Parts: sequence; structure tokens; C-alpha cells
Amino acid sequence: SPPAEKFEYQAEVSRLMDLIVNSLYSNKEVFLRELISNASDALDKLRFLSVTEPELMKDAIDFDIRIQADKDNGIITITDTGIGMTKQELVDCLGTIAQSGTAKFLKALKDNKGAGGDNNLIGQFGVGFYSAFLVADRVVVSTKSPKSDKQYVWEGEVNASSYTISEETDPEKLIPRGTRLTLHLKRDDKGFAHPERIEKLVKNYSQFVSFPIYTWQEKGFTKEVEVDEDPAEAKKDDQDEKTEKKKKTKTVVEKYWDWELTNETQPIWLRNPKEVTKEDYNEFYKKTFNEYLEPLASSHFTTEGEVEFRSILYVPPYAPSGKDDIVNPKTKNIRLYVKRVFISDDFDGELFPRYLSFVKGVVDSNDLPLNVSREILQESRIVRIMRKRLVRKAFDMILGISMSDNREDYEKFWDNFGKHLKLGCIEDRENHKRIAPLLRFYSSQSDEDFISLDEYVENMTPDQKDIYYIAADSVNSAKNTPFMEKLAEKDLEVLFLVDPIDEVAIQNIKSYKEKNFVDISKEDLDLGDKNEEKEKEIKQEFSSTIDWIKKHLGDKVASVQISNRLSSSPCVLVSGKFGWSANMERLMKTQTM
Ligand code: ADP
Ligand code: MG
Repeated sequence: SPPAEKFEYQAEVSRLMDLIVNSLYSNKEVFLRELISNASDALDKLRFLSVTEPELMKDAIDFDIRIQADKDNGIITITDTGIGMTKQELVDCLGTIAQSGTAKFLKALKDNKGAGGDNNLIGQFGVGFYSAFLVADRVVVSTKSPKSDKQYVWEGEVNASSYTISEETDPEKLIPRGTRLTLHLKRDDKGFAHPERIEKLVKNYSQFVSFPIYTWQEKGFTKEVEVDEDPAEAKKDDQDEKTEKKKKTKTVVEKYWDWELTNETQPIWLRNPKEVTKEDYNEFYKKTFNEYLEPLASSHFTTEGEVEFRSILYVPPYAPSGKDDIVNPKTKNIRLYVKRVFISDDFDGELFPRYLSFVKGVVDSNDLPLNVSREILQESRIVRIMRKRLVRKAFDMILGISMSDNREDYEKFWDNFGKHLKLGCIEDRENHKRIAPLLRFYSSQSDEDFISLDEYVENMTPDQKDIYYIAADSVNSAKNTPFMEKLAEKDLEVLFLVDPIDEVAIQNIKSYKEKNFVDISKEDLDLGDKNEEKEKEIKQEFSSTIDWIKKHLGDKVASVQISNRLSSSPCVLVSGKFGWSANMERLMKTQTM
């Protein structure tokens, strides 16, 4: 057979390899994810092309990926039955970067009368393959394209400026179609060549690749084998005629090696929501997030148009313990996949604002690059659109809980995440419309229960224009404040804001259904019952009393006024119209102390 031909890498490739090996991936283990994703792309390509060129699939071979780890020799082989590469493609794809095969394929697709764009093949900057050199010092790619009748072997070494291509001559190594990658691991990285390690990496990073991934695993089964009877025992048995003759056996474990299916080929989020049961969603939740309790709600959706992605979101059954969970957006609650390959769960507010960071779920996009970095995430227009949609879907899901017949569910939600939504009132003006209907408060007429703003509005008296509230440190003190007297007498409902954040949240929202929030402790409270004549009379009558009180209180108060807002209490301390409420003042004091 002809000798191996030597080829120089395009200068950029050498530089790129350098970059990858030294700095691009802080986490070496991603090499497996990259190579599996190439194998999966190759299978995708074959599947897609064979629609118009059925002869490409003339060999009836299953579409799969097989990974074998040889720990004694520190070798990993990854074999796929995909489209493979011709000799020229080996040069173009593995020797240059300008020609990322996937990008080229897409271009060809486009030129080719713009055939369908939904084939999951949107490729990006092609650095994936070279990540093999993160762990291997020699890589051998043996590949057979259905377009060529020869199988070729590409061979490259880490830090080299050239590679070789030769024909595969070893009959034992011939494959009918596809690609086999052999990684000869660096001395310090031989630990990757352990079947259990490979299995773990596949499960973590590539669990939901849509082709079956088999790993070569040692298995065992137990077997009963007959053993010779102890002659003395046998004799004893013979004497006892009633005892049936039993053969003596013992259990042994037989070990053998075999392929084991390691991933789930159909990720639940790719399935039709109509065919997925609530139990399936709950199981997936528990498995993915290591939870024992079922989620409060889930939402499975696909978005189309500008940016396409699929997602399943969940509301967890409880808030994480720990005081500052509410302000810590780094939760690992959202797992991002690109083309079903796990990319990251390490987000810092890119996909959800921090007040919604309790939402858990998976997001799978075809429109992001596999090597997406934090910087890309933060600047990407695609991510911004995704975020907007995710937030809306999260609100729909929460609204769903609030409208469920089971009132307890929403009580549970509110107990756990009410604070988060109130924070949203302060931090996310854009979504006030979505947050406000979800808020709950105690009120002067609700006893032990929380009410919604909708319930409040429905319960308003015919002449009532505003939504009344009072902030206090407890329902009891709110109930007993003198400010309540007049309103109780007029049967006007008042919201009791007893959580310190309530008042700030309400002040940020300002109004609900065109009704303003009005603090009943402020000095200009107008209950629509002013009688100017009478007020004037009374003011005159008591003017000397007022002067006397003013003189005695001095600058402890801003002013002393006659008011009609009390029924039985003789006087009340109120806040100025533009000043802080008493409750806010109390809060500010605790903040500065
Ligand atoms: P990308 O996958 O983004 O294109 P890679 O560096 O991962 O970039 O791969 C470069 C190219 O090499 C691929 O586009 C593809 O054409 C080719 N390639 C890599 N692995 C395989 C494979 N297992 N089967 C067929 N072609 C492959
Ligand atoms: Mg790739």
C-alpha cells in the first residue's frame, strides 16, 4: 500500500491547537463532549443527506456511537456510523479551520435552493475536534465515507505542525461506514480511560444526544453451579427417605464485557408534550436536580420564530434554605443544552433575573455555539430574546398555580417565593403587569387568609377609588391602629403590609387596574367625605387648643392639625405626605443601626 502522506496544518490550526490546549478549556473533560457531538453531527448529516441520496445508506447499519476505554493502555476509541470523511474532507476538516465541515455543509445546504433550516446542524467556529489534544498526545482518525470506496487514516500529534494521511490497510480495522477516533492519552490523563469515568462523563454531558451512545462495560451475572456432594452428607440424606434428593449448588459470578446503552436517546423535552405525563415530568425533575419532592408546577414549551429553543421549566416545592438565596442568582437551576449537548448550568442572571432564579429547568437551543462562553452569553442577542421568553413562560406557569382549584398549592408557592416576587416589583418594572396579579396580602377583611389584588378590587365599595394600605409590623398592630377607625366604620378594606418589603414593593407598582395605592397613615388621606364648611368651623373652635399643643410639643412634630379621620381615638401621629411612613422610618432605622 502507498506510504503515509505528510501534510502541514494551516498556520491558524497550529495556533488554535496551542490556544485550546493551553487555555481555551479550563475543564479537560469536555473533550468527550466535543467528540461525541461531532459523532452526533456526522450521524445527523448522514440521516439528512440520505433523504435525497438513499444510496448513502446502502449498508444497513445502525446509527450509533460506541466508546471503548482501554485502561491498561490508556486508549479511548470513539466510533460512529455517520457520514465519515473522504481523503479531501480529512484535509479540509481536520487540517484547516476556515473550513469547518458543519459550516460548509450548511452553506452547501443554503446554496442548494435553501432547503430546510431545521436540521439541527447550525455549526459554529470549528474548534471541537482539536480538544482531543487536551488529553491525548496522539490522535488517529480512521474514516470511511459512503462517497469513497477507501478508508483513510488521519494521524496527528500534540504540538506538531504536520499530520499524515494514509490508507487503512489493516483488515481488522476496516469499518463499513463512519469514523473511529483513537485517542492515545497523555501520561497524566490516562485516568480518563476508565469505563466508569467514561460512563459518568457521557451521562453528565451527553445524556440526551439523540443517537444511542454505547459504552464498553464489564458486567456480571450470577449463576448456580452444581458442586460435588459431601459423601457424609449424602449418606445422611439417603437414610432419611422422606427427604427428596437435592443436588448441591453454589452461586458464582460470571464476568464478561459488553456494550451498554448509556444515554437516553429521546430527551423528554424533545417529545410531544401531549405524550408526556405529569409523572414523566416529575421523574425527570427529580433525576435531573437530585430532588426528592415533586415540583409545584412544570411548563414544557417550544418557541419558534426569531430564536428557537425548547424548554421545560419547574417551580420547586420549596425555597432553598439559607438567608441570601434571594439575592444569589448563581443557583445552577437552569441547565443549558445546545443541540442536546449539555453546555452549562453556571449562570449569573443571564437567563433569569435574580428574583426568578428559583425557577429550575432545562433549555435546549439550536442557535447557540457549542463553545459558548460567559461573554457570549452576556452579549448575545439570542440569549436576550431567550431570557424574555423564559421569563414570560415562568410567569404563565406561576399564574397557573394561582388559578388552580387547589388553593393550598399557591399558598405554598407564596410562602416560599412571595418574597422573590416582591423583589421583582422593585427590580423589574417591565414585568409589573405580570407580577402584580400574583401578589398576596393580608387585609382588614380577610382574617387569616391572604388576598390577591383582584380580590381586593372586586370587593371595593361603589364609590371607592383607591386601594388602601397600612404598613405595620404585624396584622394585630395594623388592625388596632387608630388610622383604621374611619375606614372600618365605612367598611373600606385595607391591605395590611406586614412584611418589611411589602411597602416598597407596593410603592414601586404604584397602581393596579388604574387604582392608586394609598397609604392610610399619610396626612392628606381623602376618603371622599370632606365637609369644608364644618371643618372650618371646627378649626376655628379649636385653634387655641392647637396653638397650645404646638407650643408644648415644639419641634417634635412638623405640625398639629384638626382631622376628621378618627372615630374614637382623640389623636393620632401621621406622616407627612412626602415623607416616609412610620413603617419605613422604622425600617430605615434598622438598616442604619
Ligand atoms: P465543528 O464540529 O464545529 O464543525 P470540529 O472541529 O468539531 O468543528 O470538527 C471539524 C470538522 O471535522 C467537522 O465539521 C466535520 O466535518 C469533521 N468531523 C469531525 N468529526 C467527525 C466525525 N466523527 N465524522 C465525520 N466528520 C467529522
Ligand atoms: Mg464539533
